[in-house]
Amino acid sequence: MTSIEFRRHIHRHPELSFQEYNTQAFILEALRAEGIECRVVAGTGVLAKIEGERGNLKRAVVLRADIDALPIVEQNAVEYCSEREGVMHACGHDMHAAMLYGVLCRFKRERNFEGTLFGVFQPGEEVNPGGASKVLAENPFEGYDVAMVIGQHVDARLNIGEVGICPGVFMASNDELRFYVSGRGGHAARRADIDDTVSAIADMVVRTTSLNGPDAVVSVGKIVAEGATNVIPAEAYAEGTMRTFDREERERIYALLDANARAVEERYGVALRVDISRGYPSVTNDVMLAYEAMIVASDEGIVVREMGRIPMAEDFGYYTERYPALFYRLGVGAESGGSHTATFLPDERAMEYGERMMWRMALHILNK
Ligand SMILES: [Zn+2]
Ligand SMILES: [Zn+2]
Repeated sequence: MTSIEFRRHIHRHPELSFQEYNTQAFILEALRAEGIECRVVAGTGVLAKIEGERGNLKRAVVLRADIDALPIVEQNAVEYCSEREGVMHACGHDMHAAMLYGVLCRFKRERNFEGTLFGVFQPGEEVNPGGASKVLAENPFEGYDVAMVIGQHVDARLNIGEVGICPGVFMASNDELRFYVSGRGGHAARRADIDDTVSAIADMVVRTTSLNGPDAVVSVGKIVAEGATNVIPAEAYAEGTMRTFDREERERIYALLDANARAVEERYGVALRVDISRGYPSVTNDVMLAYEAMIVASDEGIVVREMGRIPMAEDFGYYTERYPALFYRLGVGAESGGSHTATFLPDERAMEYGERMMWRMALHILNK
């Protein structure tokens, strides 16, 4: 099977996060047909392993692709269009999986490398807690010295034949914030007998958004306080998102949110509970790996665009927390459309570059 056939099969049969049962069965069968050792990981994922012909087999490189789709009704007119109503590969994960398959087949054919190569077909990138955390919770690389985890993501802002690489912090952590205020509601005219929950939530929102800075994005998108002109409600609520680019900044904002909540409680005499639903950690690329990847790409005739950090989140951050890692963007051209839309269709011509980039970089690190 070619990578493109593999990709089209997965595109035609998309499955939502952590429900990738048929996708998993298809991947296991395709790998076994190529004689590649593989097993189930993280529930609905697949872990493949290929040992090199020489070198220290305890030294490893891990290639990662995500495999989940999104709850979107596909509106593309292609013969391999989604056959599952309301589910669509609209983030390019079908392509990521297919390129990983292509790279693994190549390594299986040309085993002239040192160490051990792992391939992770990872479930559930799109929803918390993220399949990456589930993969790592199983410790599948225990006993191995992991020299690099590498992943790629299609990107319509880059042209076909280009890769975008960012040394260091690349993508943001992503947390959901919820604020719950409660106090004595009542007649708005009797100020002495009520706790001003509305002013309290408003004050908390202003304090929260004032935490925005060069290393943090904090936005509140919803406030609920359902009183009336003359009614102060007993409860008020607000929710938002928080993105940071490193762990210390994230912890610093958490502490400030807590301090602000205590200050608001004191000032208005209300109770204010802050609920933080922790999302993915930031994606931090190993700086040396990033620069080596730039050289490898250039050697392969792939155009390198050095990228700055972006406030998007990716569960690949979990790998970067634990191992030297590299996550880069693969150009698929503006014609591919916007990801997470019903008409997103990354150009398959980009796959050749993605496979070559991942293969060459893995080989470079394995044989080092
Ligand atoms: Zn996505
Ligand atoms: Zn994605």
